[in-house]
Amino acid sequence: MSTSQEPRIVAPDGGAVRELLRVTAPVDLGAIDPRSTPGLPVAEMDGGRRKTWAREQVELVGEELGRQQEMLFAMAQAGSERPAHRVLLVLQAMDCGGKDGTIKRVAGAMNPLGLHIRSFGPPTPQELRHDFLWRIRRALPPPGYVGMFNRSHYEDVLVARVASLVPEGTWRARYDEINSFERELTGSGVTLVKVMLHISYAEQGERLLERLTDPRKHWKYNPSDVDARARWDDYQAAYAEALSRCATDAAPWFVVPADRKWYRDWAVAHLLRETFDTLDLGYPAADFDVARERERLRTGGAGADGAPEMNGR
Ligand code: AMP
Ligand code: MG
Repeated sequence: MSTSQEPRIVAPDGGAVRELLRVTAPVDLGAIDPRSTPGLPVAEMDGGRRKTWAREQVELVGEELGRQQEMLFAMAQAGSERPAHRVLLVLQAMDCGGKDGTIKRVAGAMNPLGLHIRSFGPPTPQELRHDFLWRIRRALPPPGYVGMFNRSHYEDVLVARVASLVPEGTWRARYDEINSFERELTGSGVTLVKVMLHISYAEQGERLLERLTDPRKHWKYNPSDVDARARWDDYQAAYAEALSRCATDAAPWFVVPADRKWYRDWAVAHLLRETFDTLDLGYPAADFDVARERERLRTGGAGADGAPEMNGR
């Protein structure tokens, strides 16, 4: 029966995407098809309709994310006894993997006031004078905020490894350093959602060509992207090892098949929604007498003696 119903969020098929997309060691990226759509409940629809459907769902999930984000923010403002929660989405991908697009679509549906978005490029001379986690610590979201990292400390075991920016002993030691750093974060109320957007070699080729073809996209292109592409297998191996070594119970890694942009956005939106659901969020109770305030508002703020009260004093 097809009646015009209120659009509503349709749950992923086969359980939470948090379970479907989560990876455990040893990670075999070759076994994950970048064009696949795990959990998509309308797999039987034709391509065009699936895409439209997924885009509508992202809007709906985005509204829900906005509500959850507001509760997170409100709880931190109210300063509850628990350490205030923060959520940090870490996005990693090869060039053209869709990190920017994901942030645009998913964060775009949320309240900018509560977002803390940071991108990481090559370290500056100042950053190079410190250990690799220094700039990461400075970029963490404050309590109550949702952070999004466009690249992260993982670059220090990815590009740093493949491009031999540091000796092998240095990057090898970083897996443990990352794990203890992330343990520290989760222990202080940060919920980490680490996502690798997994694109294929062919799809990257098409997207790079698009960037070269459209002059409005030249700013996104960097000749070094082709150098990194030439090291594709080395990067995939570096990703696989980083995910294998640093996928922990407290800070899991998810691999999102990302050749289809609409699936990518749908999956990341649901990953965030499901993560918020684990946080037991709610609106904090008022720390003032609501009935009394209502009465004061009605009477123009007059106290018992008829004189206006100044800020309750
Ligand atoms: P984009 O994300 O396209 O703006 O490019 C950022 C560039 O910064 C990429 O080429 C990354 O490999 C590079 N990058 C990010 N973090 C690091 C790092 N820790 N060390 C070296 N290069 C980095
Ligand atoms: Mg780039």
